[in-house]
Amino acid sequence: MKKTTLLHEGKAKKVFLTENNDLVIQEFKDDATAFNNKKKGTIAEKGVVNNAISCKLFTLLEEQGVRTHLVEKLSDRDMLCKRLDIIKVEVVVRNIAAGSLVKRYGFTEGTVLEQPIVEFYLKNDDLDDPLMNESHAVALGVASLEELAVLKSRAEAINAVLKEFFAERKLMLVDFKLEFGRHDGGILLGDEISPDTCRLWDLETKEKLDKDRFRFDLGGVEDAYSEVQRRVLGLD
Ligand code: UDP
Repeated sequence: MKKTTLLHEGKAKKVFLTENNDLVIQEFKDDATAFNNKKKGTIAEKGVVNNAISCKLFTLLEEQGVRTHLVEKLSDRDMLCKRLDIIKVEVVVRNIAAGSLVKRYGFTEGTVLEQPIVEFYLKNDDLDDPLMNESHAVALGVASLEELAVLKSRAEAINAVLKEFFAERKLMLVDFKLEFGRHDGGILLGDEISPDTCRLWDLETKEKLDKDRFRFDLGGVEDAYSEVQRRVLGLD
């Protein structure tokens, strides 16, 4: 399958149309942004690493009965996907307190949550992706109540699969962000799952192995991403 025209250029990926109207190609870039574009940079080979990790995790999810947009990994940076009508809701799942949960509610970082927290954010950069509840989402017309219920239960199912998978690889899945889209009357998981969109801590040392290293200038960004790739893909 070949790329035809550029459909969309995001912060970390380009999306191209293909000869098949139902399929798009996601090209993973090395560009990194944080704090809604206020911090910009590049992470060497991040595109290659995130494509490999995402394809592996989406394949795992498909095997566990979660429907995703993945068709196949085409090359180092390219992922062939079903074309989605993206739902403008970012779904965040949290197992351990970190990031905005700490800032907004005063949790101590690292507190293990008894039950996962699922949050909805409006996907709108101009508004800084505000936190919202179901009523906001329905009022804004971004999703129906039924769709939001599907997003929540799908996110919980994905969390159960990923948490166990990462734990077997000595990684704690602290929190992560998901995006979904409509396709053929159903809802599929879209976008990516990678150290750009997850917080992952080493199970023993609690070392951060994700985009927080870039956000907060902790150093060793590339090494952290490759370490996650090594553990996820079982490379040695
Ligand atoms: N996240 C993301 N994209 C966003 C916002 C959050 O991928 O636009 C991910 C983030 O990497 C983390 C989780 O969602 O794994 C929760 O993020 P949080 O709300 O703590 O906000 P942040 O600290 O990223 O601003």
